[in-house]
Amino acid sequence: MVEEKVKSIIDSLSNSASDNFTDTICLSLAKAIKADYVFIAKLNSEHTVATTISLTIDGVINDNFSYDLQATPCQDISEGNVCCHTSHAQQAYPDDQLLIDMNIVGYVGVPLKNSKKETDAILVALYRLPIESEVEVVSLFMLFSGMIIKEIEKQELIDELRTRNKIIEESSDAIIVCDKNYKITSVNKAFSRITGYSFREVEGKNPNVLGAGLNDKYFFKQMWEDIIQNGAWSGEIWNKKKNGEIFPEYLSINVIFDEHNNVAHYVAFFIDITKQKQAEEKIYRQAHFDLLTGIANRSFFMDKLSLAVHTLNDNEKSALLFMDLDLFKEINDVHGHNFGDELLIKASCRLQALIKSTDIVARVSGDGFAILLNNVVSNEIIDNIIARVFAGFREPFVIHDTSIRCTLSMGVISFSDDSDDASTLIKKAEHAMCHAKDNGRNSFSYFTQNMQNKVHRQLFLKKALSAALTSNSLSVVFQPIVAIKEQKINKFEALVRWKNEGQWISPEEFIPIAEEFSLIKPLGEFVLDEACRQLKILKSQGYNDIVFNVNRSVYEIPLNKSENDQWLMVIKQHGLKPSDICFELTESALAPDKRNNEGLFNQLRIAGCTIALDDFGTGYSSLSYLRRIPVDYIKIDQSFIREMSTNKDDNILVSTIIAMSKSLGKKVVAEGVETKEQLQQLTELGCDLIQGYYFSKPLASESLVSYLTDFKY
Ligand code: C2E
Ligand code: MG
Ligand code: MG
Repeated sequence: MVEEKVKSIIDSLSNSASDNFTDTICLSLAKAIKADYVFIAKLNSEHTVATTISLTIDGVINDNFSYDLQATPCQDISEGNVCCHTSHAQQAYPDDQLLIDMNIVGYVGVPLKNSKKETDAILVALYRLPIESEVEVVSLFMLFSGMIIKEIEKQELIDELRTRNKIIEESSDAIIVCDKNYKITSVNKAFSRITGYSFREVEGKNPNVLGAGLNDKYFFKQMWEDIIQNGAWSGEIWNKKKNGEIFPEYLSINVIFDEHNNVAHYVAFFIDITKQKQAEEKIYRQAHFDLLTGIANRSFFMDKLSLAVHTLNDNEKSALLFMDLDLFKEINDVHGHNFGDELLIKASCRLQALIKSTDIVARVSGDGFAILLNNVVSNEIIDNIIARVFAGFREPFVIHDTSIRCTLSMGVISFSDDSDDASTLIKKAEHAMCHAKDNGRNSFSYFTQNMQNKVHRQLFLKKALSAALTSNSLSVVFQPIVAIKEQKINKFEALVRWKNEGQWISPEEFIPIAEEFSLIKPLGEFVLDEACRQLKILKSQGYNDIVFNVNRSVYEIPLNKSENDQWLMVIKQHGLKPSDICFELTESALAPDKRNNEGLFNQLRIAGCTIALDDFGTGYSSLSYLRRIPVDYIKIDQSFIREMSTNKDDNILVSTIIAMSKSLGKKVVAEGVETKEQLQQLTELGCDLIQGYYFSKPLASESLVSYLTDFKY
C-alpha cells in the first residue's frame, strides 16, 4: 500500500509539467495521504514566524501566507520534533485560532532539517476529520523530507545566484569574465554600454580586442607580473570602443581560483574615467595656466625654471627674459580694462609665436611676462630671440578697431649649472628689466655685475632691517611744518631713522626694501606707535593743537575692509584723538586697486583723521582720483621746490598745483623749502604750509619742546 503511494508520488514528481518542486510534492502528498491541507513553510531565524512556500487546500495550490508560531503545533515542530494529533488537535492547542477557523481535527507535521541539522522549514498535513493512519502519513513525510529540504536549498542557491547575476548585470562597472585561457566567457550590460560591443561580438575573444595601442609592451608585462604574483591588478589604461573612440578607464583584474588552487577565471571590472580625466585636466590647467591669456602662469613657470636650474649639465646654459609692457597702466586707464585684457592676450600670443616648443612663455604678473630659453648654445641665439621679440612688438596691436603701439622693456640673464635658484634668477632678471625701463623703455638690459652688487646690498639690508625691527633699533625724528598765515608750527612729520653698524641708512634706500620684502607693516606700526607716544608726551606739556604726520606706504593699506580700524585703534590706545594724526600717502594709494584704499580713506576721515597726499607731482596723478578720494592736504614734492627759483617751468608747475589744490578745497604744503627766497615765492603763491631745512631739519623727540618754545617765524 505505502509502496504504491511512494511510487505515485515519484511518478507525479517526474511527470509534473510544473517546475515548482514544492508545489508538485505538496499536491501529490496531499493526494496520497488524503489530507485536506498540505503545506511546506520556511521558518524565520528566530523561529517565531512561518511562511508557506507551497500550500494546497483540497487538491489545489493556494496563495502563501505567514503566521505566528506561538501556541501552535508548528511551534513544536520548529523545535525539531515530529508532531502528530490523530484528532482533537484544536483541544490540544486551544489558543491556535487558525486551527479553529480552518476547522482542523487531525494534524501531522515533521521538521525539515538542513545539512547542518537545523530545522529550517516544516512539512504539515491538516485534516478536517480524524486521521485514519497517522503512521503512514508520518512515514511518507519522513521519507520525502530529505528530498524536500535539498530542493529548497537548491532553489535558494539558484535564487541567490540569480540575484548575484542580476547585480553583475546591472552593475555600473563594466565586467568581463574570461576563462583561464583569456577567452571572454561573459560580459555585463555596462560593458556593452561603455564599449559598444555586444556579448556575442566578443564571446571567446581575448580582451585585447579593446586595446587602443597606447599602453606599451612594458606596461602589460608589468601588469601580468602583478596579476601572477598578487592575484590582482588595478590601474588606468587606455582602451578603444567599437566606434574607434579611445577612452581612459580604471581597470581592476582579479584571478578566481578553483578548489585545487588553479586559475579558473579572470574577472575584470572597469569604469570609463573620461570625465574625471577632463576634470583633472581642467584643474591642472587652472593651477598652471593663466586664465586670461591661456599661457603658463607664474607658479608653473617657477617650477620649470627650478627644473631648468637643477637639470643643467656642465657647460650648458639657459636664459631667462623678463618683460614688462611699457605704459600698460596708462593704456588700461585710457582705454579701459577690457581693452587692457585684450592687449595682454594679443601680447602673449605674439610672445608664444616667437619661441620653440621646448621653451616656455608665462604671464608672471599683471603686465609682466617671462620666457625661459632652455639650453641655448651661444649668446648669439639669445640676442637673436631678443631681437625677434622687439621686432614682434614693433607692429601695432589692433584692438576693438583701435590700432595701438605697445612696446616692452626686458631684463635678460643667462644661467648655468652653478647659478642661483629660480626666485633669485627671476629677481635679477626683473632688476635688469627695471634698469631697461629707467633707460627710457622699449629696450633690454642684461643683468650686470653692478646690478649684482645692488641685489647683494638689497639682500644684506633686508636681513639687517629685519633684525633691526625685532631688536627695536629704529628711531623716529620729527620735522616741523609751519603754517604761513598763522606763522606758527602746526604739525610735525614723523620720519623713521635707522643706524646700521654705526652707519645711517637713508629711508629712500630702506623703505623700498621694506616694501618689497614685507617688512613695511611692522615698520609702519613701529613709527605710528612711536609718533603717538611722543605726541602724547608733547600734549601733556601743554601743546594741545599739534598734529603729527605719519607716512604710510600703499603696501600697508589692508586688503580687507575688516582691518580698516587698526590704525585708529593704535591712536586710541595712546589716548589720542584721530584728529591728532594726519596720514601721508603717495599718489599710488589713490589708484583703484585690490586694496580697499577708498574705503580706508573714508573710514579714517569719518573718524577725524586728516590725509595728506605726499610727493605730489612725482607719481602717477590723476585729477579724477583726486576728486573721488578725499584728501585734506597736498604736499608738493621737494624736487619742484628745489628748482622753482631757477627753473621757470617748475615755478609755473608749483603755482598751478597750488591754484588747482585751492580750487579743490585742499590745503597745500611745500616740502624741502631751504631758502628764504623759496619761502617768499611760496607765500606769494598762496601756499598754506612750509616744511624744510629753512625752518628745521627733522628733530629728535627730546628737542621738540625747546624748539617749540624758542620758535620764531
Ligand atoms: P617724505 O615723506 O617726502 O619726507 C620728506 C623727506 O624730505 C624726508 O626725507 C626729509 O628729511 C626730507 N627733507 C625735508 N626737508 C628737506 C629739505 O629742506 N631739503 C632736503 N633736501 N630734504 C628735506 P627722509 O627722512 O630721508 O625720508 C625720505 C622718504 O622716506 C620720505 O619722504 C618718505 O617717503 C619715506 N619715509 C620716511 N619715513 C617713513 C616712514 O615712517 N614710513 C614710510 N612709509 N615712509 C617713510
Ligand atoms: Mg612724507
Ligand atoms: Mg614728501
